[in-house]
Parts: sequence; C-alpha cells; structure tokens
Amino acid sequence: MQILLTRRLHDFAMKELQKRYKIVVHDGKIPMPKKILIEKIKNVDGLICFPYDTIDRKIIDSAKNLQVISTYSVGYDHIDLDAAKRKNIKIGYTPDVLTGATADLTIGLILDLMRRITEGDRLIRAGGWRQIFGPHDYVGVDLEGKTLGILGMGRIGQAVVKRAKGFGLSIQYHTRTRLPKSQERKLGIKYVRFNDLLKNSDILSIHTPYRKETHHIMNLKTMKKMKKSAILINTARGKIINEKDLVRALEAKIIAGAALDVFEKEPIGKNHKLTRMQNVVLAPHIGSSSAETRAKMAQITIQNLILGLEKKKMIYSV
Ligand code: NAP
Repeated sequence: MQILLTRRLHDFAMKELQKRYKIVVHDGKIPMPKKILIEKIKNVDGLICFPYDTIDRKIIDSAKNLQVISTYSVGYDHIDLDAAKRKNIKIGYTPDVLTGATADLTIGLILDLMRRITEGDRLIRAGGWRQIFGPHDYVGVDLEGKTLGILGMGRIGQAVVKRAKGFGLSIQYHTRTRLPKSQERKLGIKYVRFNDLLKNSDILSIHTPYRKETHHIMNLKTMKKMKKSAILINTARGKIINEKDLVRALEAKIIAGAALDVFEKEPIGKNHKLTRMQNVVLAPHIGSSSAETRAKMAQITIQNLILGLEKKKMIYSV
C-alpha cells in the first residue's frame, strides 16, 4: 500500500510507517500546493494531513484508491466530509491528547492579556521602560472574581474550567446542547443563552469547532453586546471571529483586548493590523504545541491510519 504525508512527522512515526507502506512525503512548500497534492494523491491508499491542508472535493475525487484520511489535529473543518463519505473514505483525528495543552495555552493567554505580560516584554525590548513601580504604571486587572464566559463546553472548554477555578473565576457557558445538570454542578458552571454570555463575560473564550454555524459568530454586532472592559480569547479556529470586525471593535474600544492563537488566514504577516495593537496578544497557532502532546498526536495519527487501512476500528474516527 502507498501513503502520502503532506509533511514529515516525528522519526518514530516515520519508521513505523516505513515498515508497512511505500511512503510519499511532501518536503516542499507548506501547505502542499493543491496542484501537486492532486497529482500525488491519485494512487495512494492513505493520506496523512494537517489542519492547514484543504482537503476538498476536487482533491478527494482525484484519489482513485484512497481509503483513509488521518489528520494530525482535532479540528477536521479542512476536510470535505461529504465528499469523503460519498467515496466511503474513513477519517481519523486526534481529540483528547491535545485537550490539556490547548487549555493551558488558553489560560496563558488570559493571564498574559490581563496582566500585560508580553506588552511589558515588548516595552522593555523597545527600550521603553521608564517608570518603576508607580501606582498606575503598567497596571492590569485581577482574574479573581471576574466572569469567564466559555462558548463551547466540550473537551477543551471543560479543561479550561478546571484550570480557571484555581484563579477564582466564576464560569458561565453556552453550547447548543446544555450539559446534564449533574455535570454542571460538578464543574461549577452556569448555562446561559448566547446573548447573556456576551453581556456577562469579562473574559470570553471560544472553544467551538469551526463549522457553517460558527462562521463569524463573533462579529461587530455580537462584540457590541460585550462589556467595554471585556477581552476575547480564541484558541479554536480563526474564522469563528470576523477579524476585520475585531480590529474595528478594538480600535473603537468596543472591547478592551484580544488574545488569539488562530487567525482567518495563517500565517499572518508582521503588517497585519493586529500586530500594531498593544492590547492584543498573538500566538502562532500553538494550542497543541508541547513536545509531549505533539508526539502523542503523531502516535494517534499513524495508529488511526494503520487501523483504518487494516479495516479495523480507529482509535478516533470522525
Ligand atoms: P469538542 O469536544 O467537540 O467541543 C466542542 C464544543 O462546542 C461542544 O461543547 C459543542 O456543543 C460546542 N458547539 C458546537 N457548535 C456550537 C455552536 N454553534 N454554538 C455553541 N457551541 C457549539 O471539541 P474540543 O476538543 O473541545 O475542540 C474544540 C475546537 O478547538 C476544535 O474543533 C479545534 O478546531 C480547536 N482546537 C484548536 C487548537 C489550537 O491549536 N489552537 C488545538 C486543539 C483544538 P454542542 O454541539 O452541544 O453545541
């Protein structure tokens, strides 16, 4: 059997794959250009891809033998599920193992923005540190007693709750389907309507998948319902927020700040408007990016592929 990887994985994973299959690895421009992908995928049985690879209908239709797509991510919004289903192609993904790392980053971004950590770092590096310990110098805000609103209370949302409790945050959430009351009690969270979540949150953190219904769910209209002092955190997917509207909301002080790990189009360049704003913290899509987590993701990605090609139950399938 032949498999295609749109980039190399860890050595242990490559060795495991090489024992079993003929391997084609793209080692050129990232993401793999569509034209090359269409050409290379023609005869392969399995594909390992990444969240920035758009696996659309045209690509899936050009694959004559494809049985399994295994993505190195929990998000699968980059894969045309209908096109895959029509051709009976199985899809593997990597939930759970990256939950903790992404929740850690979320808390890191909240702390960073509220206590102005990277803003201070930028100030020092630019030689701008003038005042020492003045009562109003570089002041941020306390986390204790603030309301954290979580949109999307799945694996990562719940892992954020567990961490946030330690900082004394009170937590409200919204999802389409309310969690059982016993689980709400256990987590110590309150279910509210989306509009109330917008109104009540001092910190609003996004943890939904990207889908048609979540496209630009955060826009000027929804941001106008937030507190002027509120901050918006996004470690989910860029297109959940209308980025142009976010820039306008920050410029017009409709909200107080934003910390983002994901963007509408990645990577963003140094001239992006968000890079010029002091009340913004930016991260280069590193939610799952700890050494341990990335290795676990590689292990699951190859296991999903191997099991799928052996026509066995994958560890995690969509
Ligand atoms: P999950 O367990 O599937 O949880 C998703 C949550 O979102 C569920 O509570 C779901 O509940 C809710 N939801 C879905 N549609 C919604 C809507 N329209 N309005 C409100 N809530 C909605 O997913 P997860 O593992 O926590 O991951 C969440 C997302 O994080 C992933 O899809 C991925 O895109 C992103 N992610 C990013 C990184 C990174 O590197 N930055 C790393 C990992 C994950 P209902 O269905 O009941 O609404």
